Amino acid sequence: MVPGARLIVLGKQGAGKGTQCVRLSRHYVIPHIATGDMLRAAVKKRTPLGEEARRYMDSGELVPDEVLMKMVGDRLDQDDTKERGFVLDGFPRTVNQADLLDELLAPAGLDIVLNLVVSTHIVLRRLASRRVCIDCGENYSVGTPPRVGWICDICGGEVVQREDDTEAAIKRRLDLYEKQTAPLISRFRKTGKLAAVRGDGPADAVSDRLVKAVDERRQPRAGAWS
Ligand code: AMP
Repeated sequence: MVPGARLIVLGKQGAGKGTQCVRLSRHYVIPHIATGDMLRAAVKKRTPLGEEARRYMDSGELVPDEVLMKMVGDRLDQDDTKERGFVLDGFPRTVNQADLLDELLAPAGLDIVLNLVVSTHIVLRRLASRRVCIDCGENYSVGTPPRVGWICDICGGEVVQREDDTEAAIKRRLDLYEKQTAPLISRFRKTGKLAAVRGDGPADAVSDRLVKAVDERRQPRAGAWS
């Protein structure tokens, strides 16, 4: 089996993080931890965390760290992530979250932070046509719909436009990305763990670039992975 890895994927909304994180998760056999998916599941189940998070998510605001960090900490504490590693998708999104993540991961730390680079006009086009399965989160678009109606090919769930993929919420999220998430890039660059990878072109080509970047930098830890 391919050894595990500890990865973060950064990139604007619509850069293709979801699709590429699923591929990285399959390639390295590591859990895909997407905070947006976890929060949407909590909203759907109407848990107290979901009720709290919904207020922020619907308007495209970031969910406060007090609400988010326990959820992330509990997930990183599970056996699969400890044994194999993880690919983090949508987290961290702020410098404070990155600092808190460092504390959670110490002393092992990360292997690599992948920055998926796609121009704003491409992400705007992708987000406007994006459709997702409300049950499993599989991504589709108006140009590449499910095989039958708007029914998910994978799980049979309903495929819809996300409530926060409206023009106003998209703009708010991209503004937030520039203000809060972009500074993460310089933070991780200073640690020497950042790799910028072009996110344009066919999904297979992007996956190949990501795997190459990971394999160049990944450092298996003795006894941790098999
Ligand atoms: P995403 O699916 O990653 O675009 O996330 C959808 C929404 O979930 C975001 O617009 C935020 O409201 C919330 N969210 C997801 N991840 C985070 C995070 N790391 N910090 C704060 N809020 C988050």
